[in-house]
Amino acid sequence: MQTHGTTSLHEIFSDLVILRNLQPFDRRLPGLADAWPAMGLDSARIPRKHEPEYAKASVWFVTQARALELPETPVRELLFIGDTAMADGNAFRNLARAGGWPGWCFIGAEKLSAPASLTTEADNVSLGNRWALLADWLTAVKKAGARLDEHTAVVVDMDKTAIAARGRNASVIDDARVQGLHRTAAGLLGEAFDLARVQAAHNELKEPVYHPFTADNQDYLAYICLAVSAGLIDLPTLVEQIKVGQMRSFEQFIGWADGELARAALRNPVFSEKPGFLPGLDGLQAIHREVYPLVLAGDPTPFKAFRRQEYLCTVERFGCLPEDAPIAQMLAEQVCITQEVRETALWLKRRGCLLLTMSDKPDEATLPSAALAAQGYQPLHRTASAAVGVSIAGQLADL
Ligand SMILES: [Mg+2]
Repeated sequence: MQTHGTTSLHEIFSDLVILRNLQPFDRRLPGLADAWPAMGLDSARIPRKHEPEYAKASVWFVTQARALELPETPVRELLFIGDTAMADGNAFRNLARAGGWPGWCFIGAEKLSAPASLTTEADNVSLGNRWALLADWLTAVKKAGARLDEHTAVVVDMDKTAIAARGRNASVIDDARVQGLHRTAAGLLGEAFDLARVQAAHNELKEPVYHPFTADNQDYLAYICLAVSAGLIDLPTLVEQIKVGQMRSFEQFIGWADGELARAALRNPVFSEKPGFLPGLDGLQAIHREVYPLVLAGDPTPFKAFRRQEYLCTVERFGCLPEDAPIAQMLAEQVCITQEVRETALWLKRRGCLLLTMSDKPDEATLPSAALAAQGYQPLHRTASAAVGVSIAGQLADL
């Protein structure tokens, strides 16, 4: 494992970056908000990754992105590189099916404690426990008859795949998000901010057992942690309510919070009797007024202030160490570009394949605000950092 200089995702994908709201960064491509009828969708609602509507929109992006440069060249096959067997594997299956394309998918998750293994499951989804197995995978894909040319679309998942490789560098992205939550809470709650309380709520409620309640939605989780931290409800009470089925969904929770906050605003004596309750309440009320209407409007990433802090905490981790920093430190503290994914993608690009990257992150967590852009901040895919990994260039050259 070594560093391979400094680069950015822009080197691979240019601006063919599609974020959570399905609005491509490359403004030559219209986004979901304008193109949903052309995509064959019923509305401009932003689908989640596992939904068939997401695949429909993705097919449209792939087709349109190819047509930008080569309008006479139809996409005929699909390659997909990701890091989660369920989410990315199924996104690949849906996309290949919706496009009517033969396809191959690589799911990487480094596990150096186990012997190297590349296994292939149903629908050509291969699981590799080394990112370097991308070379073996590509060899097998070529042998299976893939064209790997201008007719090939290559979709690369961004988070924990193209950057912050799973099993190697991924905790940096999670740390950035958690720090973003802490900063948001500190800013909103002021003196009432209690780091331990936010951490305890986050550690508990991030667990998969609570996914039916949180919908595994980071914005929802952040709001809930903030509400707990502000003292709207204490963690054991909330956990008990979830366990007995009294609190079933985030929509129910924020609806309940809305009522509680409205009553507190009327200075209901029951509330003011709670010691330590009121100081954090103003901050919670302020952010509630922003978040709640967006939740009601169906915005899947309604906690914008949190996501803006996540962007800052993430971008601070790009290129933050000197180029000669030890590898272990780089992987622990810095968001690195995954060298094996980079080499694979650039090899495919040289053969004429269409490359694009998709992220589950919303705009606010990926792009600078206008004020930050004026200070020189760049979108994450245009921010430089070290490329780290095991070079597979030799194997690719022999292909
Ligand atoms: Mg990912």
